[in-house]
Amino acid sequence: MRVIDHHIVGHQGTAGGRVSDVYDPNTGQVQAQVRLGSQAELDRAIAAAQAAQPAWAATNPQRRARVMFAFKALVEANMDELAHLLSSEHGKVIADSKGDIQRGLEVIEFCCGIPHILKGEYTQGAGPGIDVYSMRQPLGIGAGITPFNFPAMIPLWMSGVAIATGNAFILKPSERDPSVPVRLAELFREAGLPEGILQVVQGDKEMVDAILDHPAISAVSFVGSSDIAHYVYNRGVAAGKRVQAMGGAKNHGIVMPDADLDQVVADLSGAAFGSAGERCMALPVVVPVGEKTAVALREKLLPAIEALRVGVSTDAEAHYGPVVNAAHKQRVENWIQTGIDEGAELVVDGRGFKLQGHEEGFFIGPSLFDHVTPDMQSYKEEIFGPVLQIVRAPDFETALRLPSEHQYGNGVAIFTRNGHAAREFAARVNVGMVGINVPIPVPVAYHTFGGWKRSAFGDTNQHGMEGVKFWTKVKTITQRWPDGTVDLPRGSEDGGPSRIQDAFVIPTMG
Ligand code: NAD
Repeated sequence: MRVIDHHIVGHQGTAGGRVSDVYDPNTGQVQAQVRLGSQAELDRAIAAAQAAQPAWAATNPQRRARVMFAFKALVEANMDELAHLLSSEHGKVIADSKGDIQRGLEVIEFCCGIPHILKGEYTQGAGPGIDVYSMRQPLGIGAGITPFNFPAMIPLWMSGVAIATGNAFILKPSERDPSVPVRLAELFREAGLPEGILQVVQGDKEMVDAILDHPAISAVSFVGSSDIAHYVYNRGVAAGKRVQAMGGAKNHGIVMPDADLDQVVADLSGAAFGSAGERCMALPVVVPVGEKTAVALREKLLPAIEALRVGVSTDAEAHYGPVVNAAHKQRVENWIQTGIDEGAELVVDGRGFKLQGHEEGFFIGPSLFDHVTPDMQSYKEEIFGPVLQIVRAPDFETALRLPSEHQYGNGVAIFTRNGHAAREFAARVNVGMVGINVPIPVPVAYHTFGGWKRSAFGDTNQHGMEGVKFWTKVKTITQRWPDGTVDLPRGSEDGGPSRIQDAFVIPTMG
């Protein structure tokens, strides 16, 4: 059995110890085992990071940027291999896997500009002969804990910015698809990143807790489900760390009566069912405004859902592949049952779907619910599968309240031709990322990514300038260079006593 190991300086791969199965979701078979590390592996990684980080921080930023340029070229050259590896463990189709890698690479492109980004602020003449300037310095050692659903993009969100700003970074990827993160770390080494600056420790809760408690780690970035995000946030902050912890989502798409319904249906098909719904920016709830809109939308949605092709992740014609593992498949199917039990109308039932020749694969057909109401548990919670729920709203204000009052606040979209309605919606909705006729409003790398409410704990977003702020601390210097030479007369002739008095008050500079 193939073993997926840590990527730690000097680690030789010891036999024994805890492991976890890694599946091929297309076949349902175990294809490898990943090591589950402990405090001992983390300590080794920390020692290597501590040895390497000071020199990396002292490396001038354009040299650090050159590593980013070289890494980008290497990832592009290895795109096919990486996409196949990613899809073989995750189950998303190849085109989607390439998107996963590409969106991560865009953060690396942002990091190629790190010399410019790290320029501090400067005020000349803040007081008589006084200048004030600031610099952003790395924190030291940072760690990232990532979910299964974007095994390239999310590790690159974090590691790119953390490394470019001069930190050493330790990544703990999801144990469900751990190979791509290791491959990315190898490519970073090939690109010239010194050893010890990016290491990968494999593991589960035991490793996460070791990271959260380790005094040498200054900051932790987490992405995953909300309960774990909340736990990671609390434990990390209690240990004195800087923590950002992104959680789950339940994104709504509001369809106004004047929306282009053909476009909405095309957008919804991809946004609700793409990647088998395993995206934190998926659109699993659609809110048609007014009965006429609801009826027309449902009518157009049905043939679009029937036309969806579910296939193995290497099938270039497939719209989406299997979900990540059997437990998750069961969980999604349980939610479908809950929806029925709560009284929602199951219009299309994706349970029991079998792909010929891949009967053991973790496939789920697309499902559609209508007449879902806000009091239902299946509406309140994240399903994270290929299930679309229609929640009918009589008017704009009701539609606006649904995502605003939901426990999650990651993304939301409105479909309309009315600029005023869109503008009102964007200003008033209580959600972190908004799309206007854009179903999946994932911001580009030089903006930042982050939800509100239970979709994110902490106060700093991922990547863009927010990422730079998260991975650096500001130092502000107030400087005065006295004129003259050392043999200037001293004492009362040059106002000595008043200078001493001045030294005891906070100077006003104006
Ligand atoms: P998860 O919470 O199960 O796992 C995330 C990470 O936490 C993994 O590395 C895992 O090993 C670790 N972990 C799991 N259980 C733990 C525990 N009890 N204690 C400590 N650590 C633990 O999430 P997942 O299933 O891998 O990913 C899907 C979830 O991530 C969804 O809820 C999705 O919405 C969310 N997500 C959010 C964003 C965002 O930016 N808001 C992005 C992607 C995914």
